[in-house]
Amino acid sequence: MTQAETRFFTPHTIAEATGLLACGMHYRCLAGGGLLVPALRDGLPLTGVISLRRVPGLRGVERLADGRVSIGAMTPHAEVMCSDLFCGGTALVRSAASAIAHPVIRNMATIGGTICRADPAADYASALLAAGTAVHLRSDEGERVVALEDFWVADGATILREDELLVAVSLPADAGIGGSSYVRFSRVDGDYPVASAAVRLRWQDGRIVSARIAIGGCGPTAYLVEEAEALNGIATLDQVPEALARAAVERAQPRSDIKGSADFRRMLIPGLLDRGLRQALAAAP
Ligand SMILES: Cc1cc2nc3c(=O)[nH]c(=O)nc-3n(C[C@H](O)[C@H](O)[C@H](O)COP(=O)(O)OP(=O)(O)OC[C@H]3O[C@@H](n4cnc5c(N)ncnc54)[C@H](O)[C@@H]3O)c2cc1C
Repeated sequence: MTQAETRFFTPHTIAEATGLLACGMHYRCLAGGGLLVPALRDGLPLTGVISLRRVPGLRGVERLADGRVSIGAMTPHAEVMCSDLFCGGTALVRSAASAIAHPVIRNMATIGGTICRADPAADYASALLAAGTAVHLRSDEGERVVALEDFWVADGATILREDELLVAVSLPADAGIGGSSYVRFSRVDGDYPVASAAVRLRWQDGRIVSARIAIGGCGPTAYLVEEAEALNGIATLDQVPEALARAAVERAQPRSDIKGSADFRRMLIPGLLDRGLRQALAAAP
């Protein structure tokens, strides 16, 4: 298939966009274009591209009536970075957005495109997992809401059906309570992280009562460290509990690539956890 045979659509409603996706022609959505445009240039064979740029209702950050914070799929990283709706337990989302690349990319690339690309090393990957994000998928059949940890299945693979559009993500109403952090290691400032850790803590009477921890860049998807409950009851951090650090490393399935070996990635995890936990604790009100 040549570029000339790729059709280009500019729907003006969500229903128009999902209608195009439902027609069984294997069309793909175009968001910021940061990854799709170079892929097309490199000859990715596509029958049609659906630009989401003119579809209203897909962009922006808002607090919903039930307290959840919703981020439209077409919201660029720069807009998330500047929103004052991310604080306390969700401040990690803003930190991740501001760590991505540089201003040109942050103004162009979107949260929806990032989640659909399913790169386990993306800055949002661990941050959105730790924040407890839900993904809202729309098709002609209606909307389904999926936990982010169930949305990603492998590097570059998701459960998104061909007829579905990612319309928004939402953070739980109580996610803002507590403190959070997002920390990363990259070889060059502004480059994709080699590995990252995201931490969301809740405390009561000066002690941690719940913790959600996610690691990015160290497996086919970013992953939650379920043993984070080992932190419950802790008031200050002398050192990361050994069982927790061990569990975070054991759960990793990193690949070796030009940025670092699998062993190097495993080695980074305890230090990132330590840094992330200290920063989240320091954010305690
Ligand atoms: C030079 C450069 C540097 C970068 N550096 C970093 C970095 O340091 N850290 C980092 O985390 N990321 C980085 N990124 C990635 C960037 O943040 C985005 O993840 C990437 O550009 C994809 O988002 P997009 O909006 O451009 O999506 P697109 O390229 O438009 O689309 C990506 C994929 O998602 C699909 N898609 C998009 N939106 C939807 C939707 N709403 N519903 C269904 N499918 C959809 C498309 O069909 C396509 O398959 C970088 C990107 C570039 C180009």
